[in-house]
Amino acid sequence: MSEEYSALRQAQREFDKVAEMMGLEQSYRNVLREPARTLSVNVPVRMDDGTIRTFKGYRCQHNTACGPAKGGIRYSLDVTVDEVQALATWMTWKCSLAGIPYGGGKGGIHVDVHELSAGELERLSRRFFSEIQPLVGPEKDIPAPDMNTDGRIMSWYMDTYSMNVGKTTLGVVTGKPISLGGSEGRTAATGRGVFVAAMNAMRKKGIEPRDARIVIQGFGNVGYWAAVLFHEVGCQVVGLSDYYGGVYNPKGLDPTKGKERAMSEDESVCNMLEGDRITNEELLTLDCDVLCPCALQNQLTESIAPRIKAKLISEGANGPTTPEADQILYDKGVVVIPDFLANAGGVIVSYFEWVQGLQFFFWHEKEVNAKLDEIMDRNLDRVWVLAEEKNICLRDAAYWFAIERVARATQLRGIYP
Ligand code: NAD
Repeated sequence: MSEEYSALRQAQREFDKVAEMMGLEQSYRNVLREPARTLSVNVPVRMDDGTIRTFKGYRCQHNTACGPAKGGIRYSLDVTVDEVQALATWMTWKCSLAGIPYGGGKGGIHVDVHELSAGELERLSRRFFSEIQPLVGPEKDIPAPDMNTDGRIMSWYMDTYSMNVGKTTLGVVTGKPISLGGSEGRTAATGRGVFVAAMNAMRKKGIEPRDARIVIQGFGNVGYWAAVLFHEVGCQVVGLSDYYGGVYNPKGLDPTKGKERAMSEDESVCNMLEGDRITNEELLTLDCDVLCPCALQNQLTESIAPRIKAKLISEGANGPTTPEADQILYDKGVVVIPDFLANAGGVIVSYFEWVQGLQFFFWHEKEVNAKLDEIMDRNLDRVWVLAEEKNICLRDAAYWFAIERVARATQLRGIYP
């Protein structure tokens, strides 16, 4: 990555390209391409040895035209204001596309969590959440877990906010443990969304689930659940991989046999399932119907794309396909369901968690899954129709749809005062 790389510039370039395609009025482009507000905080923490250390943190709201800001808070040494603003921008489009009443937000603390004791982590989390309290709230901005943050940290956030306002406020964060207002179905939601989107596209392309050969890169939270769901409906999951490498079996693999592996990073999935050992690159170019990259970004590159044999790709990871590879795949007629459409299951069920928390009324897993499936199907259907109508790829159509909704909301609300 070059020194000048800016994630926010990248997000804005993507926006500009589609805004131009749509013929969006310049004045609205100026409103939508910049983050609305960013709070930068200096967080003092008393360390276990009695000294006081300070940490830099941020919370950005890119746009709230459609509703409160929504997006995770990450703890990492990679956190910068530029990255947080870019991620908030992408959340605006993701929530808009998902059709849920949210704008985009993101936050982060510049910290190496592995250096902190449990007590230091808790004090950092609670003080950070107090510092960003002017921005957050169940009707204003609802954070969630992200890189290196989890249900335990969300519980501290919820408690800190509740203590500060004097009442238990479940709706201030999502991603909480089920015993503390979390939603059934949240753990599997992203993988489920990747699966539902792929099944819908398979129906449109006339691919029978029983004949479908599925390959999944990444066997973590997203990849594991997607693999299990494909397996359950009778598709042949022929290839799986993780950080250590891949496994291939043309007769089909049973991903449930690798469950323990999916929950820990100690051993490779390849050692737990019967099949031939292959490299990750071999996995991505296997002869198959559906490929789901569910590991990390920039996996489908210019050099791999010409050799990809999948008919359709459902992106579980964020940014797994480079722009050059995207063009090659489009020219080859491979259908690519873009990340912010295919992996929106998590944020959609977070929305359900928020709704349940506001009402203090909780749903069964079946109900959560049925509602999620319906929204995923509706979103892909709409984007598919728009892509055909405009003769563009699904990614551009998804952006188009997302930007149009926020632009319309902005126009309807008018510019205050
Ligand atoms: P995870 O950490 O649970 O799993 C990641 C998996 O990828 C692991 O199996 C790991 O071994 C594997 N992996 C790592 N490096 C690899 C490599 N070089 N080659 C092949 N496999 C490799 O993460 P996750 O929660 O499943 O998230 C995966 C991706 O999905 C990330 O890009 C994340 O940002 C995105 N995502 C996750 C969610 C969610 O709800 N978990 C939501 C939206 C997007």
